[in-house]
Amino acid sequence: MRIGHGYDIHRFEDTPSQQHITLGGVKIPYERGLLAHSDGDVVIHAICDALLGACALGDIGKHFPDTSPEYRGCDSRELLRNVLQKVQSLGFKVGNVDVTIIAQAPKLMHYTIAMQENLSMDLHISLNDINIKATTHEGLDAVGNKLGIAVHAVALLVKKNAYSN
Ligand code: MG
Repeated sequence: MRIGHGYDIHRFEDTPSQQHITLGGVKIPYERGLLAHSDGDVVIHAICDALLGACALGDIGKHFPDTSPEYRGCDSRELLRNVLQKVQSLGFKVGNVDVTIIAQAPKLMHYTIAMQENLSMDLHISLNDINIKATTHEGLDAVGNKLGIAVHAVALLVKKNAYSN
């Protein structure tokens, strides 16, 4: 078994044309967007880093540089599926993933199930193996002042032939 941790944070920006953010592949209405080279899916970026970390493969910036036009505005779910291929090529599959989203706004409780559904599909795991938690920062620091959203993720990988399931 291998374990990995991922962390990411993105700041909000005023985006008159884009009245939503994307978390876990789910579009969530909000008055501002998240500043990013990609679609700003900070949940998926943290999961990618957890998976890459478990494989000792560096981080998301190494594999998908934000200086590359190829990844401008890209769908982060494509990056996640790409990372899963790297995991599988090393003989692992995802055991389970646990995620904590820290956001003062918007409220996320109605969107976490949809995120879990997207992520279970992309990671080839059951809904029981992906958990999304959302908490506020109690008004403290930058995240608490609604300047951005931060995410922690932990991923466990198991060798494909380690268990029968
Ligand atoms: Mg990021």
